[in-house]
Amino acid sequence: MGPRFQRIYYLSLEFYMGRTLQNTMVNLGLQNACDEATYQLGLDMEELQEIEEDAGLGNGGLGRLAACFLDSMATLGLAAYGYGIRYEFGIFNQKVCGGWQVEEADDWLRYGNPWEKARPEYMIPVHFYGHVQHGKDEVKWVDTQVVLALPYDTPVPGYRNNTVNTMRLWSARAPNEFNLKDFNVGGYIQAVLDRNLAENISRVLYPNDNFFEGKELRLKQEYFVVAATLQDIIRRFKSSKFGSRDPVRTSFDAFPDKVAIQLNDTHPSLAIPELMRVLVDIEKLEWDKAWDVTVRTCAYTNHTVLPEALERWPIHLFETLLPRHLEIIYEINQRFLDKVYASFPGDLDRLRRMSMVEEGSVKRINMAHLCIVGSHAVNGVARIHSEILKATVFKDFYEFEPHKFQNKTNGITPRRWLVLCNPGLAEIIAERIGEDYISDLDQLRKLLNFVDDEAFIRDVAKVKQENKLKFAAYLENEYKVKINPNSLFDVQVKRIHEYKRQLLNCLHVITLYNRIKKEPSKHFVPRTVMIGGKAAPGYHMAKMIIKLVTSIGDIVNHDPIVGDRLKVIFLENYRVSLAEKVVPAADLSEQISTAGTEASGTGNMKFMLNGALTIGTMDGANVEMAEEAGEDNLFIFGMRVEDVEEMDKKGYCAKDYYDHIPELKQAIDQLSSGFFSPKQPDLFKDIVNMLMYHDRFKVFADYEAYIKCQEKVSALYKNTKEWTKKVIQNIGTSGKFSSDRTIAQYAREIWGVEPTRQKIPAPDEPRE
Ligand SMILES: *Cc1c(COP(=O)(O)O)cnc(C)c1O
Repeated sequence: MGPRFQRIYYLSLEFYMGRTLQNTMVNLGLQNACDEATYQLGLDMEELQEIEEDAGLGNGGLGRLAACFLDSMATLGLAAYGYGIRYEFGIFNQKVCGGWQVEEADDWLRYGNPWEKARPEYMIPVHFYGHVQHGKDEVKWVDTQVVLALPYDTPVPGYRNNTVNTMRLWSARAPNEFNLKDFNVGGYIQAVLDRNLAENISRVLYPNDNFFEGKELRLKQEYFVVAATLQDIIRRFKSSKFGSRDPVRTSFDAFPDKVAIQLNDTHPSLAIPELMRVLVDIEKLEWDKAWDVTVRTCAYTNHTVLPEALERWPIHLFETLLPRHLEIIYEINQRFLDKVYASFPGDLDRLRRMSMVEEGSVKRINMAHLCIVGSHAVNGVARIHSEILKATVFKDFYEFEPHKFQNKTNGITPRRWLVLCNPGLAEIIAERIGEDYISDLDQLRKLLNFVDDEAFIRDVAKVKQENKLKFAAYLENEYKVKINPNSLFDVQVKRIHEYKRQLLNCLHVITLYNRIKKEPSKHFVPRTVMIGGKAAPGYHMAKMIIKLVTSIGDIVNHDPIVGDRLKVIFLENYRVSLAEKVVPAADLSEQISTAGTEASGTGNMKFMLNGALTIGTMDGANVEMAEEAGEDNLFIFGMRVEDVEEMDKKGYCAKDYYDHIPELKQAIDQLSSGFFSPKQPDLFKDIVNMLMYHDRFKVFADYEAYIKCQEKVSALYKNTKEWTKKVIQNIGTSGKFSSDRTIAQYAREIWGVEPTRQKIPAPDEPRE
């Protein structure tokens, strides 16, 4: 039996899908036909598309990656399933009121969801709480509370290849007998009302990006998706010819060859103890056999090294909610540490460091450790990130099992992030090199023959200008803000986070403003700085950063001396559908995280593919973008990872930079004195205090290099032709960042399956 029968299961707590209508038309090759048909009906397809709600079942990069992967897995013809939760409320809608973020519930299902189909025939029970009975030779988890998992399927069409995969999202339903055991006249009504308690499991997405919040409801969500999905996987395995419905005859020998489970971060890490529980307690496999099956089936993708993001669940939550899983984790840990001790006899500190169980004021389970031990492959999401994992956070694990550690640099789907969002650019590319690049993005290299082609340079610049005019019109329509479409569009859109250093961008804006005010008659290259992104509702500093951006805008945008040479716009409610509008319009992409903190980034890739130049640090996938395009074709500045490490050893002193860089001092003094918050002079004292005395991300250390680099940006922008040549060089070398490449590598190097791509003539194409 060939690997064709292998099924890939991508488990993720997030699928940031955005809209589906246009993507479906693109992948089925129906876009022109539909445009024409609606036009004949007197309708405008673009207007119709705007009515669709975003499926915002994700926070940022991690969730969007899962969505891009579904598209690529279908396009590469893999038998792959996405499994997650059908949140009734996705990522909140962001309003800006008086310059502050206000969250509004995302009631995305209010008008129904035409893309999903409920499959009640595949409903599955999931157990919580209860206790464990240890019998003579069996273990039982009893007196549990049951919640039903109702699956909803959404089709995932591949790009013009006659393949449609499935994304299956679980919704929590209370069983009909829920809380009715001891009902009486009064209790009945309450029992029905209490069904909400069970159904709250799939109510709402936790809005944290790169941050761990140890709430019981979140742990319930994580177990809910894992337990339902594993039952589905095992049911499907048993009904295939490799398994058997008869438990006595079912051999799991073939399971790891037929099933691959990819864990998108540690969020679905309970898949490891849950698979062990099913195999040992229910299917009656020997522990060692079950462990072999589990490890060969599971693989883990790490998405961050930030300590505040790593999941470390307090043991007391496990003790009540998942008592059997806690026992299994202890057993896994004990056996693992025994092996480590055999390799490093006497090294007790190593055992402490590598244990899944962390001692302390609260005992915790380190889920990343569980994932590494329970998987046959562990990957980071960009080369530099994967190296950091081996050298620092997971060093002990790398020394113990080096063969497990891999890299899979992230990617984006060129269907949504070029063909769909930037048809003008896709068209002029196709005019030069044909359409095959859409599913074979390396073919963009052919554009390097056109770097000096006057006509192509003109076309690329023209498409960008059209995209900018369209986005400017959108902003004026929706938000009544007027921007100068001839200015440099300088864009930083991503979740608001200190490590992403939106504050460094703010300091640049303030510096530009001060320079204009200092020499009002000097020529300045006009800029429109756009910053957008959501702050986690409980993240005080992130919310202050939004208020700072809007406050700087209030001063700068209304200063007559400045005119239209500088504008600062906060882009409200950044989400997938807004990314599709702003990315094609950007001239400059801001990717300025402290080196060593951004695992990969995928926004950086979207901008590169859409003809923006990058100003960025040597962090995440920026490193590989610079390698592909040539470092001269990006604006790289600031400390490298080694510089940051060196500085950590010596100690970072923000005050030194403040004292020695007059323009930095001026900017900070303005923040301190209330220049940007005249009605509330001390408004930004927390920001100043953080930057001056406890800045983990060393904003000031990169300030000077960043400002100088931005001067180079402005200088080059004056020369449209030279600027556009670099743009073409970037587009032509962006092929590596297709998620098709990423998925082909996962398939070959982790899942042990060969991707196939069969193109079929689409309805839009002329047939022979
Ligand atoms: C791509 C994307 C992200 C990730 O952006 P980064 O700059 O890589 O953090 C976040 N949100 C949305 C809506 C996206 O489309």
